[in-house]
Amino acid sequence: ARDLLQVRDLSTRFFTERGQVNAVESVDFDVREGEILGIVGESGSGKSVTALSLVDLVESPGRVTEGEIRYRDPELAEEFPDAADGEMVDLRELPERVRRALRGPSFSMIFQDPMSSFNPSLTVGEQIAEAVEVQRRANARPRSTRSRTQGYGLGSYLLDGIVPGRDYTDPESRDRAVELLDQVGIPDPAERAEEYPHEFSGGMLQRAMIAQALAGEPDLLIADEPTTALDVTIQAQILELLREIQAERDMSVLLITHDLGVIARMSDRVCVMYAGEVVERGTLADIFEESVHPYTRGLLGSIPDLAEPARRLQPIEGSVPSLRDAEMDDRCFFADRCPKAMEDCLEKPPEFDAGGEHGAKCVLAEREYSEAVALPEGFF
Ligand code: SF4
Ligand code: MG
Repeated sequence: ARDLLQVRDLSTRFFTERGQVNAVESVDFDVREGEILGIVGESGSGKSVTALSLVDLVESPGRVTEGEIRYRDPELAEEFPDAADGEMVDLRELPERVRRALRGPSFSMIFQDPMSSFNPSLTVGEQIAEAVEVQRRANARPRSTRSRTQGYGLGSYLLDGIVPGRDYTDPESRDRAVELLDQVGIPDPAERAEEYPHEFSGGMLQRAMIAQALAGEPDLLIADEPTTALDVTIQAQILELLREIQAERDMSVLLITHDLGVIARMSDRVCVMYAGEVVERGTLADIFEESVHPYTRGLLGSIPDLAEPARRLQPIEGSVPSLRDAEMDDRCFFADRCPKAMEDCLEKPPEFDAGGEHGAKCVLAEREYSEAVALPEGFF
């Protein structure tokens, strides 16, 4: 499949009073059409900031400072030739209003907390209908004249002149909202559409958030820890739903999680992040069967063994450094925690070695090193 998104050398920094935090540092990855790309790492590894950087939602004092975010859109490429290379457009080179207008029809996001995507004082149906309506009106205008302001949460992006909560939606948009609720598996969708967010259970509201995210028919759905707050049974159902809608719509999904179990069930390819950098990437099999980076191996080793809970493998000791200091630029920044660290690792930072698809930022990547991590039996 072709690339839908190519992220190159992306860096995002936070300029805080205590100093500069390099939350995302020279990150490279691609998202292909119709695939699920998983980004995995501990909390603080830069996964969420990476996602927010893509959709231009990093908040001050944070800022994307470098890199390209190339997105396949022939129409935009034609309209903004200076930002384009073939069909790929560098989103960072587009005017802000154009970029904002991509949220909904091109990119949508869902989060751990669905409440943050809904206005508590409007019915769920109204809010989804609003998202449908915004989309319908936007599609009727030339792209360069579209502009939107952010509404409540991230789900609703409003066209100029549309007031949230005002009853402007036509019956068609309302019908479409009910249809979307039905598609995400909400029973009695017509009745549930009339209810307020607090009347929904956590799992049902998560489904409603997915329905809202689908209203714009996005090419890429960014899901940031979409099931972390849910109990195990509901979590499995939501993941199943995400898979189904991804396959039906042939949509691309960028799935962000700290949970390798979720990655194993869902992803086609995987990026492992540590301290703001991609330290390893490859197919699901590359990562689970032939991982090279000691950090990836440590993450794999920390998956609890369901069959034999007593035989829990040793997780990596220590935690992600919160501030990358200058010293880290002269050596491997994982060396403090790395069980395989050697002299070489302290002399200069390892290069990202990606001979084929599978690559890692570690000196071991250049050497023969294929002893596999013992995965719990029946993990897949
Ligand atoms: Fe460990 Fe060295 Fe690889 Fe860094 S470069 S992860 S310290 S083996
Ligand atoms: Mg996060």
